[in-house]
Amino acid sequence: MGVNGPEITIDFAPELHALAAPARRGGPTALRTDGSSTLGHLVESLGVPLTEVGAVLVDGRERPVSHVPREKEHVEVLAVRRPQQVPGAPLRFLLDVHLGTLARRLRLLGVDAAYESEDIGDPELASRSAAQRRVLLSRDRGLLRRRELWAGAFVYSDRPDEQLPDVLGRFAPRLAPWTRCTACNGELTDADKESVRERLEHGTRRTYDVFAQCTACDRVYWRGAHHAKLQTIVDEAVREFGDAVA
Ligand SMILES: [Zn+2]
Repeated sequence: MGVNGPEITIDFAPELHALAAPARRGGPTALRTDGSSTLGHLVESLGVPLTEVGAVLVDGRERPVSHVPREKEHVEVLAVRRPQQVPGAPLRFLLDVHLGTLARRLRLLGVDAAYESEDIGDPELASRSAAQRRVLLSRDRGLLRRRELWAGAFVYSDRPDEQLPDVLGRFAPRLAPWTRCTACNGELTDADKESVRERLEHGTRRTYDVFAQCTACDRVYWRGAHHAKLQTIVDEAVREFGDAVA
């Protein structure tokens, strides 16, 4: 096996170089295959989850990832197109345990972002993605290779300031700031001061007038002390991505 298999050349698009094995980042390279592995298997074995792959071209023509490459074929692996269309609206996300800040920022923008602060494990994440038809966001390539996923996406940065524009640019979700609970992902509804009175500290009762309440966990929201920082996040996201519609 292996040494007598076909030799092909493989070329990853620049957007995929961060994921591809280091030796595959500089342009087309030769690859000896075992003669039975599919394109999909070869691409994943070189470090790139198929969630990140758009078209795969073989000698310039698009082929499915089930194609088994033959001698001297030239394979070009293209990145997924942005904004990416995910069939089966509405667009919803599920984030792994390492992406809590990103989850709260997506919720702040009104984007449906399920997240558990405890680690429920890869099989459970994958089956929730499938059952609830949510796009799984993760920096774990092993998780993104699980076949049962509804859809998935690799998050390219470990910094929330970069993760948010990455996800917004990739999927172009409809933004509806201040409509979702950042704590539980529930939807907010307007609440008047009287109905939430007992839930507020005395100082809050005096100072703030704008209230909303989570329909899922009853948490009360008002224009409070952290508002300026959150408003900046909202303003920047709306300025850059507010016109995009999924
Ligand atoms: Zn809530």
